[in-house]
Amino acid sequence: MKKVMIKKVGSYDVEKIKDAILGSMEDLGGIDRFIKKDMLIALKPNLVLKRSPEQAATTHPSIVQAIGEIIKEHGAKAILIESPGGPFSRSRMKNNYDTTGMTEACEKAGIELNYDLETTSIRNDDALFMKNVTIVKAFEKVDAIINLPKLKTHGQMVYTGAVKNMFGIVPGIIKAEHHFRTPSYDDFANSIIDIFISKKPVLNILDAIEAMEGNGPTAGDVKKLDALIISEDAFYLDYFACEIICLSHDDVPILRQAVKRGYLSTDLDVEEAASIEEFKCHNFKIPSRDNPKVIDFSDHTPSGKFIKLLKPKPVFDHKKCILCGECVSSCPSEVLSIKKEKIHIELDDCIRCYCCQELCPERAVKIKRGIVIDSVLKIEKIFKGGAK
Ligand code: SF4
Ligand code: SF4
Repeated sequence: MKKVMIKKVGSYDVEKIKDAILGSMEDLGGIDRFIKKDMLIALKPNLVLKRSPEQAATTHPSIVQAIGEIIKEHGAKAILIESPGGPFSRSRMKNNYDTTGMTEACEKAGIELNYDLETTSIRNDDALFMKNVTIVKAFEKVDAIINLPKLKTHGQMVYTGAVKNMFGIVPGIIKAEHHFRTPSYDDFANSIIDIFISKKPVLNILDAIEAMEGNGPTAGDVKKLDALIISEDAFYLDYFACEIICLSHDDVPILRQAVKRGYLSTDLDVEEAASIEEFKCHNFKIPSRDNPKVIDFSDHTPSGKFIKLLKPKPVFDHKKCILCGECVSSCPSEVLSIKKEKIHIELDDCIRCYCCQELCPERAVKIKRGIVIDSVLKIEKIFKGGAK
């Protein structure tokens, strides 16, 4: 039976988080199922870019400290391994660890910080697209992985949680290749599932104490949900996390594809689960609900030009932009450049992966709906009498 534990945790108090994790581990069959003496366990947080913990773009350091202390108290060792987007270099990792609070949390809990930049290739014959995946080699040296995602909205994938977080085992800039090889959202979702099943964590602990809503995964707003969601099964965990923010799994490409591939059954009586009701957030801002439908529609239309009008596009705020070039070097389609001291985009070849938005340190990239969808939604509002 798939078990998903949802614990009420109202703050980032390390002791309270430890209690919630230990209680969940007990409910899931006992701590020994996950942590054994002398094991080396990789902790995989979401450190998408260097942001302070208060901005809710990254896994909170208290969660890392809490699980690190639990691992140490059970005679095992922990190493924190992550590879955000952009170049995978020691100086970037150091900056990222310092700003996100990981350096301090790891020092307190005796967790090693990974600086090994070596990569390796692993094979997975169950994959649909990605039978060979290049990953950070440090993940191959551990006995188990504990996944520490953050609940956030995502411009391209609508929601990011446990399954999507494991995309971070792919080293820095190589992530861009995956976007480029699978430009349709459903194909990209499948490649993320491929990566996930290539290196499955033994446990997933989702930080939904303070989530990110709206313009996620890096430029949204903080939303308190007071929840820590824990499960061995990342697909079911994500399903219930989406139930909490009142987002249908069918609007999330990864979960939609997970159902098709048999990793998730939606034959669950969610209403029966009283624990979900008390956590439900009915006004959680979801940015791109129309995205998946647009992409489904694109599978059947013959007109590429028309499709482009449907897809939300990145728009650059030149007042906020500091011309750091991060988006230019991270764009998988190489459609961005700096011209006349402004970011220039060749929109026709943009694959709408939104890496530029995700990695912009200045929140200077917004995702704007295509004009057709925008007009349809406006007309829909008028008919519903909700136009303002
Ligand atoms: S849009 Fe953002 S990432 Fe791109 S150059 Fe400007 S500040 Fe840097
Ligand atoms: S411009 Fe942005 S959304 Fe378009 S391909 Fe480049 S990174 Fe992706």
